[in-house]
Amino acid sequence: MEQKTILIVEDERSISDIIKFNLNKEGFQVETAYDGREGLEKALGLHPDLILLDVMLPYVDGFEVCRKVRESSTVPILMLTAKEEEVDKVLGLELGADDYITKPFGMRELIARIRANLRRSAQAEESKSAPADLQTFGNLTIDMNRYEVCKDGKVLELTLREFELLRYLAERADRVFSREQLLEEVWGYEYYGDIRTVDVTVRRLREKLEDNSSDPQYIMTKRGVGYYFRRP
Ligand code: CA
Repeated sequence: MEQKTILIVEDERSISDIIKFNLNKEGFQVETAYDGREGLEKALGLHPDLILLDVMLPYVDGFEVCRKVRESSTVPILMLTAKEEEVDKVLGLELGADDYITKPFGMRELIARIRANLRRSAQAEESKSAPADLQTFGNLTIDMNRYEVCKDGKVLELTLREFELLRYLAERADRVFSREQLLEEVWGYEYYGDIRTVDVTVRRLREKLEDNSSDPQYIMTKRGVGYYFRRP
């Protein structure tokens, strides 16, 4: 397998060093940046396979770096957050981050997250050359292979995860899944992860998909159990 390059953007040297040491041990090539400006430069110049991005950084913060990188790249971005407010911001805003991990974190968890995100992005990359697989549900048409969703003929701008969650539920229409199941199946985390991630992704998906997101017709809540896609 070709060696993957991870860019670590983290101003605390001790944290950066220990992550680098562990990623090298796992066979990853590692690049480092110690402030937001350098991080942005390297993210755009070195084309890493994944970016670990701290939120609080000198010059340009991690949110801004994330937004800027997203203007031209779909590289997986895993945010390193230190505080609850940062988690809310990562989850709540349309930053385009793929995932986050809260400090302090264990190296096994970090590496599991990195591998899961790399797997997802490789699958999405492969699917671009796959033949179309159109399925229609009411006024929605989902191209199961090519990550495209149209509503009344208009393309919806979904993030990778939003699409994957929609596809997972739509392929199994009318079956209810718990948030833990969805985290495991759609995000690829067996033990780690935060079920709020599922709720926030469902909320954003509804805002894009539904005529009225507070009265959804497609992505339904089964109270006390989880979520399902209702076949129209
Ligand atoms: Ca920092």
